[in-house]
Amino acid sequence: MRKHIVAGNWKMNLSEQEAIELAKEVAEMRVENTEIVIFPPAIFIPTLSKLNLNLKIGAQNFFPKDNGAFTGEISINQLKEAGVTYVLVGHSERRTILKEDNTFLKEKVNAALEKNLHVVFCCGEELAIREQGTENEFVKNQLNESLFHLTQEQIQNVTIAYEPIWAIGTGLTASSAQAEAMHLFIRETLSSKYTTEIAAGISILYGGSCNPTNAKELFACPNVDGGLIGGAALKSADFNSIANSF
Ligand code: PEP
Repeated sequence: MRKHIVAGNWKMNLSEQEAIELAKEVAEMRVENTEIVIFPPAIFIPTLSKLNLNLKIGAQNFFPKDNGAFTGEISINQLKEAGVTYVLVGHSERRTILKEDNTFLKEKVNAALEKNLHVVFCCGEELAIREQGTENEFVKNQLNESLFHLTQEQIQNVTIAYEPIWAIGTGLTASSAQAEAMHLFIRETLSSKYTTEIAAGISILYGGSCNPTNAKELFACPNVDGGLIGGAALKSADFNSIANSF
């Protein structure tokens, strides 16, 4: 069966010392049957890896080429050498601020899977799309253009994070009914593209102002398999409480 995963996206926050302390606290959490992943700022990854903590380390970003004249970018091999096993692809901040589109995200997905990294692929609509009632078509198109070229074997190394943009960092959360409806839609879409068994094995995480107060209700939804957590992942007590919300 699919895994429960709770992942912390630290974004561009923390000093090195703060990152070390937070990673140690996260590694000491007692959580059963849930994979814990942290996505720290890239510059701290080698230091955190060398601590050999009981958690998975992911990269918030990478460039989908092996090497070359790509000033400022980091390759997958470099990240793997530093201890990374997960990558985020398609986060709304990279889509919006860094202008990463579905075609480029497809390239990133391919590059990461080729090097055996596990991809957490983010999708989700902005408020105007939800107000129009076209969020299902919007999300389906994101999956179609960046993921649905993958083989049955490849898609099993992808976790999907549904993150409605209107809920990220805003304090607004999708209700558990809204989250479950979209997660079910994503699973049914995976099922018709691949097989019911494959769709049942893929973890679908919720992200968007998830916190210790709302996590229990969200994680109780049958198609919500965990969370991608931003702000609340920066406080170990909050992250611990969320990770223990199943
Ligand atoms: C995120 O950035 O993936 C996220 C879900 O952020 P927040 O929890 O702060 O809304």
